Amino acid sequence: MDIHEYQAKEILSRFGVPVPRGGLAYSPEQASYRCTEIGGTKWVVKAQVHAGGRGEAGGVKLCTSDREVQDVANGMFGKRLVTKQSGPRGKLIYRVYVEEATDIARELYFAIVLDRRIERVVIITSAQGGMDIEELVAKRPDAVIRTTIEPAVGFLAFQAREIAFAIGLEAPQIAEASRIFRRAYRAFRDLDATMLEINPLAVTGKGDIVALDAKMSFDDNAMFRHLDISELRDRSQEDSRESHAADRGLAYVGLDGNIGCMINGAGLAMATMDMIKLVGGEPANFLDIGGAASPERVLKAFRAVLHDEKVKAMLVNIFAGINRCDWVAEGIVAAFKDMDVKIPVVVRLAGTHVEQGQRILRDSGLPIISADSLADAAEKVVAAVNSPAAGADA
Ligand code: ADP
Ligand code: MG
Repeated sequence: MDIHEYQAKEILSRFGVPVPRGGLAYSPEQASYRCTEIGGTKWVVKAQVHAGGRGEAGGVKLCTSDREVQDVANGMFGKRLVTKQSGPRGKLIYRVYVEEATDIARELYFAIVLDRRIERVVIITSAQGGMDIEELVAKRPDAVIRTTIEPAVGFLAFQAREIAFAIGLEAPQIAEASRIFRRAYRAFRDLDATMLEINPLAVTGKGDIVALDAKMSFDDNAMFRHLDISELRDRSQEDSRESHAADRGLAYVGLDGNIGCMINGAGLAMATMDMIKLVGGEPANFLDIGGAASPERVLKAFRAVLHDEKVKAMLVNIFAGINRCDWVAEGIVAAFKDMDVKIPVVVRLAGTHVEQGQRILRDSGLPIISADSLADAAEKVVAAVNSPAAGADA
């Protein structure tokens, strides 16, 4: 789960990481009022969306009067901000963060991530902050420092000092920077975060160190023990297909193709996507109905797949062990009764109660295309999606 910059800053500040003074606004008037509250003569208006790269996309603007803050905010509200990370549809701006403009002497990079390969938390830092980490790694791999944390001992003071030296901080800042690094780590660890990025971590003209941007993601499976954080979830920033499915307890990932998939088990789902691609198709989603799926659950999954307008054909691939093909078949028949299914549906059933399942589908008289193997199913669904009838229906 992702949260907004202003929320991440609030959290970091609670852990003792310095952030600029700022205030949230839901309207242009409120944005201009924030200037008075914050004080000073220069402010930055920052679009709050779940995507980085806002600066380059016009989502971060420096202003020199409260009038200007109001105008800039006015131009942001209601727009969808498209950045390098937002996806082509962009993300809706309905809140902005007004912050005092900081006098920046240097921009550093600081992040904490999980390296799944080595099964460790890794701190990534660089003296070259401001730009994207992907770009930085590509252009200046030597400028990126990786520090591995041993879980049994945590992030040690000497490691933090080493990093501070390595990114070229001056003697008076070393102690302060290492404190900030370790406070950020504490926030990451205590709150079950999976990612924390401060880019830029700025050194000000006066030599202070401040987090100018903050991004945090959390482990969904740990949110039951951080109810205050789970409340920060902002559905307006999520893929509507995914939140629809998640609300119904389905494991669903939205993709860009046009073949909807309903499968049991993540492994079979992966294999099915590969097979679809191999025969020239593009999956629209990854949906795992799980084990022992009831007809009702199958019906919900069917709805979740059809919720995506881009879906032009559907492939149901069930290899039933704990699952039962007759329940899946009943769910499919119920889905046809319940919805106006206009697209071709290819079904491949195998395993527990397969004869009963196939009989239910046959007796239903529905125009279901049956397949005997995964390869057969993939070929049939790709042929169906490419046939003129599929296009005409849609
Ligand atoms: P993003 O990473 O989404 O582009 P940032 O918050 O990093 O957004 O802002 C982009 C750039 O804007 C920063 O690299 C920094 O140079 C500048 N900036 C951001 N916040 C402030 C601030 N409070 N004062 C001065 N400059 C800022
Ligand atoms: Mg940034």
